[in-house]
Amino acid sequence: MIKSIKGTRDILPPESALWSRVENTAREIFERYGFAEVRTPIFESTELFARGVGADTDIVSKEMYTFEDRDERSLTLRPEGTAPVVRAHIEHRLQQETSIAKLYYLGPMFRRERPQKGRYRQFHQIGAEVLGSDNPAIEAEVLEMLQFFLRLLGIQDQTLLVNSIGCPACRPQFLEHLKRSLAEKKTGLCPDCQRRSETNPLRVLDCKVESCQPAIESLPKISDFLDSACRAHFEKFLGYLASRQVAFTIVPRLVRGLDYYTRTTFEITSGALGAQNTLIGGGRYDGLAEALGGPSTKGFGFALGLERILLVLQDRGNPPDPLTPQVYLAPLGERAFDTATLIAKCMRENGIRCFLDFDARSLKSHLRLANKLGSLYALIFGEVELQAGNYQLKQMTNGEQTTLTPDELMRAAESSGQADLRTSILKALFLARSTYHF
Ligand code: AMP
Repeated sequence: MIKSIKGTRDILPPESALWSRVENTAREIFERYGFAEVRTPIFESTELFARGVGADTDIVSKEMYTFEDRDERSLTLRPEGTAPVVRAHIEHRLQQETSIAKLYYLGPMFRRERPQKGRYRQFHQIGAEVLGSDNPAIEAEVLEMLQFFLRLLGIQDQTLLVNSIGCPACRPQFLEHLKRSLAEKKTGLCPDCQRRSETNPLRVLDCKVESCQPAIESLPKISDFLDSACRAHFEKFLGYLASRQVAFTIVPRLVRGLDYYTRTTFEITSGALGAQNTLIGGGRYDGLAEALGGPSTKGFGFALGLERILLVLQDRGNPPDPLTPQVYLAPLGERAFDTATLIAKCMRENGIRCFLDFDARSLKSHLRLANKLGSLYALIFGEVELQAGNYQLKQMTNGEQTTLTPDELMRAAESSGQADLRTSILKALFLARSTYHF
């Protein structure tokens, strides 16, 4: 038997309904804040990520799914969404003279990490990027939006961590101090951090290995090295958060390891997750567009892991939306089945979730299935009822059954205002009868 690949997952019903709910909530809220969707290809030239993420990051050095195409060009399954969005922004000249570009994306990413709870090799991100301004008010607005998004999903247990990593003008001085301090503490560091001390010292700061923590605690803090422009930017950002009543904690270890990441970085973590507790990560990347060969374009954005949002929702016992039928059609006999196909069409066109089985069944068998599916109503009719224009409507929750007559259908069709489910079913049935003449 062929099985799915390690680190990938099938998203099956009913869990898939919860996925849709999270995605739809993101679309609705992000669009309300003026973000428009971009969809970039799943694979790109490898160089985009080597330059856009950085050759000496874990992602590029050991986690990418890279392959050679038949024309010997090196391609890579996208490990993240920011570099592709910025590439598209440059390629299609989305730079607007009058305003910033607000873009969001949603889809699968690929990293060859060691699979564990909350960490997969194909995972899904929703992300957003604001391109064209370095105003700290944009950063606060994005965090306000994220907090609103999480609140709508019912995720309360979350913490916003923020930091500033300075800019290419003030960071070198910090790096000098950091390198010197790391050289003194090398023996207390894990092998990865010993390597990073040389290749990418900033990354040592966000190492999660327990035994590294005492050494990390005693390293110099970037906040002591920010120049006045970076300090003013950070303070404005924090002020905007405070006035919006968005709670935050400043964490000096929060860094991004590449030169074009500048100033603000942030993470939103959740106590409901285990070791992989980061729900959302983001920051400012004012140098990225230039690193990709485009015009200088300020940028700020984030990516959230859908699997992790789902873990938090499921951990809280959040049941998937029940996609149970609102009405189960129970035709008795062949002619009644043919009519039922037309009633189903009309019900569905009029917004009613309707179930029609394709096997001939007895009444008992129909009702057993309607019950099993959790249907709210069952509409029962045979040849005789069709002749008379009568239908039996059974409310499955309490077993109450009423006969619907042509008169009653007419009265429902003529009623105005907000219709309840029962009236909607009657209206759709009236419409089906008058459209298809039965
Ligand atoms: P990053 O692009 O590494 O900043 O990650 C942003 C978010 O994507 C993280 O906060 C996670 O929620 C999620 N994420 C990153 N890597 C994985 C993975 N391998 N599996 C599942 N989620 C991930």
